[in-house]
Amino acid sequence: MRPASFLYHLGWTAVDWLFPPYCLDCGTLGERWCETCQQKISLLAPPLCERCGRPVELAGLCVECQHAPISMDAIRSCYAYEGIIREAIHRLKFEKDLGLAEILANALIKVLSMQDWNIDVITSVPVSPARMKERGYNQAEMLAFPLALNTGVPYKRSLLKRVKDAPSQVGLSKEERRENIREAFEGLPQASQYSSVLVVDDVVTTGSTLQSCALALREQGVKQVYGLTLARAISRDPLARATS
Ligand SMILES: [Zn+2]
Ligand SMILES: [Zn+2]
Repeated sequence: MRPASFLYHLGWTAVDWLFPPYCLDCGTLGERWCETCQQKISLLAPPLCERCGRPVELAGLCVECQHAPISMDAIRSCYAYEGIIREAIHRLKFEKDLGLAEILANALIKVLSMQDWNIDVITSVPVSPARMKERGYNQAEMLAFPLALNTGVPYKRSLLKRVKDAPSQVGLSKEERRENIREAFEGLPQASQYSSVLVVDDVVTTGSTLQSCALALREQGVKQVYGLTLARAISRDPLARATS
């Protein structure tokens, strides 16, 4: 473990000592998410679409990526967005259970280590200034920071700016949807010094948020943009098609 990563972990261990947590799943005192409960949940297993990371039946590209490739070079997620993972993200986002992020980041570390991505810098999907003021933190950043410390890749907050909150895509034409997504984030000039950026988020649903981040970063000249999320919303209905 790198010294910075160890110190960060030590900091959270001290917080646990002062304010003993309860396991997210079984409620055991003194654990944020105990080893036994962690082992009950498995990482999303291949075959996954090479590009968007959606579970597919055969290795390669999913139908959507064959027809309209996403702007991200690749997206990978650790878990399906359901059950205890959904609960964990809820706690992280709305109940200020920030210690959870440090333990959940272990899955991001593991999944990133399985990719052959060459990354210059790690950033996270930003929240709007209004959301930041109200919440006091960005849950995606709480996940991305320990990942950066562990990998030794620098973390930079100021590569992207959220111009508006979760754009509604309802009732818009394809062209309007594209514009709507494009307008959600702005790439900041600092991004132009990097050629390959990893964007971290808590959950990917339709993929439009990451898509928007990729477009904004590419406008600043970034060549490769990868996405890594803790969870991915998965349609259990084989006939339903998620929209990327
Ligand atoms: Zn437990
Ligand atoms: Zn795909």
